[in-house]
Amino acid sequence: MHYIIMDLEWNNAYSRTSQKFINEIIEIGAVKLDEKLNVAGTFSQLVKPVISNKLRARIKDLTHITNDEIRAGKPFADVIEELKNWAGNDCIFMTWGDTDIRTMLTNFKIFLNKNSIDFIEKYADLQKYCQRFIDMKDLSQAGLSYAAECLNIDPEQFPHHRALDDSRLSAECFKKVFNSDILFEDTVLCDGDFYSRLVFKPFYITDKNDPLIDKGIFNCYCDMCGAKVTVMKDWKYGNQSFRGDFYCENCNREFRVALRIKKNYDYLDVKRRYFEKIRAKALTQSGQQDE
Ligand SMILES: [Zn+2]
Repeated sequence: MHYIIMDLEWNNAYSRTSQKFINEIIEIGAVKLDEKLNVAGTFSQLVKPVISNKLRARIKDLTHITNDEIRAGKPFADVIEELKNWAGNDCIFMTWGDTDIRTMLTNFKIFLNKNSIDFIEKYADLQKYCQRFIDMKDLSQAGLSYAAECLNIDPEQFPHHRALDDSRLSAECFKKVFNSDILFEDTVLCDGDFYSRLVFKPFYITDKNDPLIDKGIFNCYCDMCGAKVTVMKDWKYGNQSFRGDFYCENCNREFRVALRIKKNYDYLDVKRRYFEKIRAKALTQSGQQDE
């Protein structure tokens, strides 16, 4: 059994046929580790692009890859064939975050007319896995260099931001936090469900009557005393959340609730936030309804 830690470089190119921008893979790098985590081989190959043979400035600056180099690269199908033979059979593929694997899937669809990356049987998201071991306050910061630093690895050992360098750095992180039981939990079979999940785009629910949600979600209680509340202003959708104003007789307070409902592949993410509202002075001071 081997662990294949893979990284891609791509160029954002406009495809006239698809009439949209596509991240076209220009380089594939990978490190193969054996069961004892020794490096059993490396893979590095430039891909000759089809959609655009001009690199964006950002990619040139970051990777120092030149237009001439990619033009001399090998066709995508050939590089994939080489990668497949190099990887061998019994292995777990890993990438840092799922962006690379999603990009590879898009390139498989466009250039190979395939709806799956057929040579990958098992996959683990290395970023997700490493986050289990690193205490990161801000998960959005969990870039590869940041994670490496948290694990006392100097990212400058691999400074070139080329696919192989980034795979090597990812492999170092992986070695530091290796735990076969946890990795087993994080490893998924690349079946139909895996690809459906990969291409699923989470979205916000914008309609109160959306069949995806249980209407009970809109029942409101006071967050201080738990009592049923009076609706002052009914739910209204705007800015990614529903908002409503409520009044609790028990606490004599008015508050606003913001409810954000996001549909993920296999669960609804519901965030409920409460905001205090200052009651009209006349009402709180005199205790009279000023109608
Ligand atoms: Zn209350």
